Amino acid sequence: MSISRFKQKQQRSLGQVSLVGAGPGDPDLLTIKALRSIETSDVIIFDNLVSERIRALFPKGSEAIYVGKIKGAHSSTQDEINRLLLKKAKQGLNVCRLKGGDAFVFGRGGEEMLMLKSAGIHVDIIPGITAGAGCSSYAGIPLTHRGLSQGCTFVTAHAEKTLDIKWQALANLNHTLVFYMGLSKAQLIETELQQAGLASNTPVALIENGCCPDQRVITGTLTELNALVVEQQVKSPALIIVGEVVSLSEQLQWVEMNTSVYEKITHSAVLSA
Ligand code: SAH
Repeated sequence: MSISRFKQKQQRSLGQVSLVGAGPGDPDLLTIKALRSIETSDVIIFDNLVSERIRALFPKGSEAIYVGKIKGAHSSTQDEINRLLLKKAKQGLNVCRLKGGDAFVFGRGGEEMLMLKSAGIHVDIIPGITAGAGCSSYAGIPLTHRGLSQGCTFVTAHAEKTLDIKWQALANLNHTLVFYMGLSKAQLIETELQQAGLASNTPVALIENGCCPDQRVITGTLTELNALVVEQQVKSPALIIVGEVVSLSEQLQWVEMNTSVYEKITHSAVLSA
């Protein structure tokens, strides 16, 4: 057998891993390719951001392993997840590695792929709708809009050690800013962006459980950001959007949600309540 045939055979006996983005929660936002991977893989290894309604689509007979990382709770470490992925692939299984949103946007998909590829495992990628895109659409907030915002920047407010955000650069961009994992840093975001020159009345939105039946959209201004988080008891997962485009959310709202809550929060100054 030629070396390449041998390699091919070896590859076949190894399994493979699909890094699959599940989108922000609504199962109808799964791509056809993602659904196909969920339905045909031997094992699904999934994170906590994969919504209940998407989990309900897992085939009854297939193995599904939860490796969610919940802040502050015991959960699998990235090393444990890597070992599990490798183990399953080496057993010859086809693995669906299912993550919320898109695996390559604050999803550690790159790290997992590097590790797997260095072990000779074939990896393919099925992109998903990242929360920044999905949740903003479900909140009626266009990320760009002629005359209001020429660009959009996704920022993570989470850091292993210290947060190294170039606030001045962000403020100067004049872009819509979308902060992932920003809830616990709301005060910092509010203060730093204002110090960097963003107007205190810049519109902001908090989107909690975006694209899910219990989605909440809370709008206000930059100077109210942390107070909104506290007063409205906003819970993870939530996105923070900062920028003039947020001012369109009321007119462009289209998802049916608890409108009384929405209007109350939008119109009344939460701080003066
Ligand atoms: N890979 C994911 C992001 C993972 S980081 C993606 O592409 O979307 C996790 C953060 O994403 C959360 O802390 C939150 O800020 C955001 N997020 C993910 N899903 C969300 C949802 N349904 N609603 C609001 N925020 C969400």
